Amino acid sequence: MRPIRATIDLAALEHNLKRAKRLAPRSRVMAVVKANAYGHGLLRSAAALAEADGFAVLELDAAIRLRGAGHRQTILLLEGFFSLEELPLIEQHQVSIVVHSAEQLKTLVSCAPGRRVEVFLKINTGMNRLGFPPEELGGALEALKRHRGIRGVTLMTHFASADGGEGVAEQLRVFNEAAAGTGLPRSLANSPALLRFPETHSEWVRPGLLLYGASPLLKQSAEELGLRPAMTLASEIIAIQNLKSGDRVGYRGRFVADAAMRIGLVAAGYADGYPRGAPSGTPVLVDGVRTRTLGLVAMDMLCVDLASVPHAKIGTPVTLWGDGVPVEEVAKSADRVSYELLCALPPRVRIEEK
Ligand SMILES: *Cc1c(COP(=O)(O)O)cnc(C)c1O
Repeated sequence: MRPIRATIDLAALEHNLKRAKRLAPRSRVMAVVKANAYGHGLLRSAAALAEADGFAVLELDAAIRLRGAGHRQTILLLEGFFSLEELPLIEQHQVSIVVHSAEQLKTLVSCAPGRRVEVFLKINTGMNRLGFPPEELGGALEALKRHRGIRGVTLMTHFASADGGEGVAEQLRVFNEAAAGTGLPRSLANSPALLRFPETHSEWVRPGLLLYGASPLLKQSAEELGLRPAMTLASEIIAIQNLKSGDRVGYRGRFVADAAMRIGLVAAGYADGYPRGAPSGTPVLVDGVRTRTLGLVAMDMLCVDLASVPHAKIGTPVTLWGDGVPVEEVAKSADRVSYELLCALPPRVRIEEK
């Protein structure tokens, strides 16, 4: 069997959820498990995160699978419904929906009420993607109140820069002003806001990335934040080359040895989700020893420097990210974000649980 595999550490998921709960002790935690739980597997992750107060996904199909697996807590569709045909299933499975636009609201209230549905009404506080402008909130709430099919309304918004310089102050101000006097529960915080801005915690927090043990902050590592990486992408050395000075490696000979050196070929390439843009020098562990990649990442293979691992041989384990090499570091080196790397795990990579 080709040695590349992703190992999902279920205890790390549980640990990270506990961490989120300790950080926001008065809030309910909506575990964001969209994009196949950021590549970790929807049902496996939801089982490990079963103590969450809710789950958030994008597709109705994912919500129904969660119900089918026995999860009884709130399940929220983060973009709401996409067509009228979805509404009966939403009611039947008691899935909560974001309502983010006048069009969605009109469709919802034009339907005869069936079983009552819970709504998260999204306000655009400056990110300018989804949500009602604050001045339309009153009218939207009126329309929902008149409709007998609504079980409850939570006000919600999403932050654009909770991870870095700009922060949340202006969006929070706009939100609080809009929400004032409604008496409705609120949901604001994504992972970075949960970690940095307790004033955003409110009734519901919505962490995604932090549950998977990657740092959502630019300036603090996952370890510093008390998080444990849930996914480790690992493979093995499948060949070794002893190079002379001047020898070239791989497509276009991008890497040229400037002295005699020993390199390992690892069964991991961009078709395994390893970023093709990772340059020479991207960190990697060989038998637990930190070394670097060399040359271009190919579809099925990449090269590593074995200077610091003289005992390495065919079959020696290689960690591409996860335990010992944070995915954030690999992402940064490749000019990507950890979200992308985790979500892009392709089907040809076998998943194991531990
Ligand atoms: C994806 C998403 C989240 C989670 O974001 P993280 O940065 O991964 O914590 C929260 N809220 C909404 C609306 C989202 O789309």
